[in-house]
Amino acid sequence: MKKQQYEKLRHIVVVGAGYGGITAVLRLAKKLRHQNEVQIHLVDKNSYHLLKTQLHEAAVGKREVAIPIEHLLRRRRILFHLEKVKSIDPDQQIIHFQKGHLAFDFLVLALGSKTNFYGIPGLKEHAFTLETLTDAQRIHEHIARNCALAASEPESKRRKNLLRFIVGGGGLTGVEVAAEFADLVVKCTIDYRVSLADAEIVLIEAGQHLVPHLGEALSAKISKELSAKGVSIMSGTKVLALTADAVTLSSNMTLETKTFVWTGGVHIADIFQDKKIKTGRLGRIRVDACLRAENYPFIYAIGDNALAMNPETGQPVPTAAQFALQQGRLVADNIYAYITGKSCKPYAPRVIGEVVSLGGHLAVGWMALPLLKKITFVGFLGSLIKAAIQRKHILLLRKESRNWSMR
Ligand SMILES: Cc1cc2nc3c(=O)[nH]c(=O)nc-3n(C[C@H](O)[C@H](O)[C@H](O)COP(=O)(O)OP(=O)(O)OC[C@H]3O[C@@H](n4cnc5c(N)ncnc54)[C@H](O)[C@@H]3O)c2cc1C
Repeated sequence: MKKQQYEKLRHIVVVGAGYGGITAVLRLAKKLRHQNEVQIHLVDKNSYHLLKTQLHEAAVGKREVAIPIEHLLRRRRILFHLEKVKSIDPDQQIIHFQKGHLAFDFLVLALGSKTNFYGIPGLKEHAFTLETLTDAQRIHEHIARNCALAASEPESKRRKNLLRFIVGGGGLTGVEVAAEFADLVVKCTIDYRVSLADAEIVLIEAGQHLVPHLGEALSAKISKELSAKGVSIMSGTKVLALTADAVTLSSNMTLETKTFVWTGGVHIADIFQDKKIKTGRLGRIRVDACLRAENYPFIYAIGDNALAMNPETGQPVPTAAQFALQQGRLVADNIYAYITGKSCKPYAPRVIGEVVSLGGHLAVGWMALPLLKKITFVGFLGSLIKAAIQRKHILLLRKESRNWSMR
């Protein structure tokens, strides 16, 4: 776009094409389709929208989880920039890339979160993480390779070390990864003709309960189902250090392993470290009720990188896809309201339920019902609900982006 032409327009830039960003950008394009003086931009370091909540399935080779951006933006007046954001100057209203920059009138920050290693020695160097498509592919290849090596390994101890898969962090992601590993190990032992008795999956959690925010009853159900799948759960145990061959635990135990996946927590990218944009816990951007960054009313933050507060509980809204989606819709409405001279709407998170998939056709969770009631479920019904939630996101994307369909 020529400089003169660029300067005539108002530019709304959304950075991050994850759950929050893609929702915001598609809704903005729909609402502003008749406003020719506005140009909408989407920036992401990848050329696809990643279905991050299904990454654990990609890590065991079960599912495609990337939707090309071009499919989603087809016939929309949205300019896509395949760029990694290096820094943001909120005073000059400029985003800096490796090479080049982009000026904005409104900015929506939806950069997600990344793995927090908490400074634990060796973790960053030796652990597998699960935050990108490449991570999922690396884990998948590594497991297949270890199974193949185990098949021709005559020495029992070395064979068992190859087949000991350890997951650190018993939150939602860790539990889903451990469950998928359990299924994969069964398949791998059949495919490569290794004895199932040689394989072991261990889930390590520092607290007393898995996925603690779901409450003790659901947490107990998750533990029971995982144990039935052959996962050894070590709760109340901290990871102290990791090398290429072993993990040291707070229980004075050292476990030999070639596969350690760390899912113990997230924090926000260093992009906001200059402190111009104010951040709070875990580096999340502090926002007001309308999801605008404190001090910068033309900058909005949504999803994992935003510290939105629940006005009812006074607590931060958790990092979860369902909240990123809600916030994506709301900022689009709020920017549209601003442009059309209306007032913004405050954010009130709606928790419709949570489902933790435990591999195969098994899931555990709860769902809100009218009149403040809720139901909990375990088993096949749960997996149907989980599949329906994932399907709903795809259907909404398809609706917003017309004609596109998933292979
Ligand atoms: C394995 C796994 C399972 C999960 N399961 C669930 C679940 O069942 N339910 C649930 O609610 N949540 C789940 N979550 C959490 C959920 O995925 C996140 O809360 C959600 O993705 C947050 O959405 P977001 O839009 O804030 O960020 P993201 O979806 O992470 O998107 C961020 C985007 O920003 C881009 N980006 C990042 N940095 C840069 C940069 N510097 N420059 C340019 N682009 C950049 C990324 O490429 C990405 O496209 C799971 C997470 C994982 C890893």
